[in-house]
Amino acid sequence: LPMHLNDPTLFKTSSYINGLWVDADDGATFGVDNPSSGEIIAQVSNLTDAQAHSAIDAANKAFKPWRARTGKDRAAILRRWFDLILANAEDLAQLMTLEQGKPVTEARGEIIYGASFVEWFAEQAKRVSGDIMASPNSANRMLVMREPIGVCAAITPWNFPNAMITRKVAPALAAGCTIVLKPAEQTPLSALALAELAQRAGIPAGVLNIITADSDRSIAIGKVLCASPIVKKLTFTGSTAVGRILMQQSAPTIKKLSLELGGHAPFIVFDDADLDAAVEGAMISKYRNAGQTCVCTNRFYVHETVYDAFVEKLAAKVDKLHVGDGFSELSTQGPLIDDAAVNKVREHVQDAISRGAKVAAGGNPHALGGRYFQPTVLSDITEDMLCMREETFGPLAPVIKFSDEGHVIRLANDTEYGLASYFYSRDVGRIFRVAEALEYGMVGVNTGLISNEVAPFGGVKQSGLGREGSVYGMDDFMELKYVCLGGM
Ligand code: ADP
Repeated sequence: LPMHLNDPTLFKTSSYINGLWVDADDGATFGVDNPSSGEIIAQVSNLTDAQAHSAIDAANKAFKPWRARTGKDRAAILRRWFDLILANAEDLAQLMTLEQGKPVTEARGEIIYGASFVEWFAEQAKRVSGDIMASPNSANRMLVMREPIGVCAAITPWNFPNAMITRKVAPALAAGCTIVLKPAEQTPLSALALAELAQRAGIPAGVLNIITADSDRSIAIGKVLCASPIVKKLTFTGSTAVGRILMQQSAPTIKKLSLELGGHAPFIVFDDADLDAAVEGAMISKYRNAGQTCVCTNRFYVHETVYDAFVEKLAAKVDKLHVGDGFSELSTQGPLIDDAAVNKVREHVQDAISRGAKVAAGGNPHALGGRYFQPTVLSDITEDMLCMREETFGPLAPVIKFSDEGHVIRLANDTEYGLASYFYSRDVGRIFRVAEALEYGMVGVNTGLISNEVAPFGGVKQSGLGREGSVYGMDDFMELKYVCLGGM
């Protein structure tokens, strides 16, 4: 391995079901590679769909005793998990960079961010309450109770191999649910290390199950999770296309769904913006994780009076990014996750150039080769270009000129997506007007970084269903029960 772990026992390649480390029934494994070199760094258990059933059964058996524990009790266990994640943060960051490629400084940031959900929901576990309503009938008394929804399933992506897991598992467990989670085939090691720490924290057998599989078997396991009547809820983060499939597959069992899907975030710079702050925000929102986040800016709309200055300042910053291996402390942009990701960025860049875009920075695969792509800024962008419609999921910033506020809002909203949006302005009237007009679940005003455990994260339109994190995040894992006392 190209790195050192203080605790090598965090490097796990078996799945975790019912408190036990298990390999595939048929001995199958799949390779996980280091995106930086393409080298296979682990062979991980490739579970069968029969084993997905056994994970569901384990979660089902564990549900009753887990829900019967007090919130305070669950809080204490989650808190121990949080402490262990922080105590092992460096190892978790190293494992993440190994399988995901992001710069280790970013990986460290993600461990802290991921852990914050465990801390937050450990605290929230103690604060579940119901209501007593005023009855319209004097003979009745009306109560509303909150109960855990039951066995949950989760499917997570590779771009945040730690935080996308904790953001789902922590509220589920805090609510009293048990869970079967299938991590992305590209990044199972981060998930399995979290399972090891969960076991050490005293999370009981069956309460958290992590099942690993390659892309083919993930599809089969997805079908099992959706079809099972034992699984009461599915929570998914990934592409809109897969979200649609899972929603369809969940229809026969009327499963509750949380879906965090794709985005096509606009980033609008008005003429009254603080331009340097806008460039700063653009860098964070565009190039973090090499542009591979669902809240990354996809398209920049810049007012014509500041357009040239913005492009020039952004390109100058982008030229200072340091592309390289994630394990180098100097790197600020690592490789993309796989070859398909590189091809998509290249396709979007070439399409834009063929339709008249000009290269202000980058524009090509990086000299390092492999999965490295130059951080890119394109100007003279028009609405007909591919990058203005499709999620690029890479380090490409297309910058388009606008002149009218109403028009730019229409363009910003002209997409099936509705996850994150950003704009820069110092005018308080405009700030409220635009924030209210944007059809998005999240709006960053004068900031390019909006995610944290206190915020309700989620989208509208075809960007998904439900909210994660925040005081609302546990609601997605709970049902309301109305109890009517008559004859009082
Ligand atoms: P991305 O494009 O970011 O890789 P995907 O939506 O393809 O996002 O994948 C996110 C997660 O969904 C991964 O864990 C992957 O294994 C899983 N997945 C992909 N296709 C399916 C499917 N048909 N059924 C169930 N899970 C799937």
